[in-house]
Amino acid sequence: MANPVLLVHGGAWAIPDDMVEAHTNGVNNAAGAGWRALEKGGCALDAVEEAVAVLENDDTFDAGRGSFLNRDGKVQLDALMMCGATLRAGGVGCVERIKNPVRAARVILEKSPHIYFVGEGAERYAEEHGVTLCDNADLVLPRELERWKQAKEQSYLTVPSEFCGPTNSHDTVGAVALDAEGNIAAATSTGGTLNKAPGRVGDSSLIGCGCYADNDTAAASTTGWGEPMMKLVFAKWATDQVTWEHSPEEVAPESIRHLHRRLNGHGGIILVDRQGRVGIAHNTPRMAWALRRHEHSSAGVKFPN
Ligand code: ASP
Repeated sequence: MANPVLLVHGGAWAIPDDMVEAHTNGVNNAAGAGWRALEKGGCALDAVEEAVAVLENDDTFDAGRGSFLNRDGKVQLDALMMCGATLRAGGVGCVERIKNPVRAARVILEKSPHIYFVGEGAERYAEEHGVTLCDNADLVLPRELERWKQAKEQSYLTVPSEFCGPTNSHDTVGAVALDAEGNIAAATSTGGTLNKAPGRVGDSSLIGCGCYADNDTAAASTTGWGEPMMKLVFAKWATDQVTWEHSPEEVAPESIRHLHRRLNGHGGIILVDRQGRVGIAHNTPRMAWALRRHEHSSAGVKFPN
């Protein structure tokens, strides 16, 4: 038997002072939901699914309702979930009518011989397996419409990398967990980047890029500028570094240094291994996180290193 651990993140960027409370409350609520799943005897997959669903339902984050809009003014969502015991995974990309993409990812992981579905096919598969579809307009907030209009006005003046600076909003969400059976899992969910090209998929939902879990090494979820993370297969790179001698606490900052040194990338990562050891690191000004263990819970927007 293992001592369960749940670690959640709610993005890494220059979270403004007036948004700190919403981010801290959001990750705390998510950690509470995931932890209740573990307390009820749920597995690591249950914990990360419940935690991420809470974050998708929270307008604060770039996941589910309240996500950034793409160039067409639509919400287009990506999510992945992975089981460290079996290496089974489920992912969706570019879905427009699923309120909780992480639940669709779980259905794919559990029921499909395939791993990844996109667009209409993903929506159809989810609906056939009990996920209720919504209208895209239900996922769009007036706040995001306003932000999108401003981005469109400025975009002809702005080179793409400036949209992706470490101070720009990266509110992707994710969770990693260790359950009482000693199994680990990870999940990541996102609306991607502001004013992205329709059809663009970032790192978050790609296996090994924004999310990975293997009982032999560790579980990881990332947030930040997606393209450099994809080039480095970043989550897999990070989990591969975790060994008995090399803890997640050491690997997390090393991974972020690697991302920055190799591609000038930025963002954040959370890690957990089967020993219950955790790592959190980011090279953005802030990162929203929450941690639960028996008799311990903590949360913040800056990890006390
Ligand atoms: N990594 C995400 C993406 O590129 C964005 C984020 O983390 O905010 O889609």
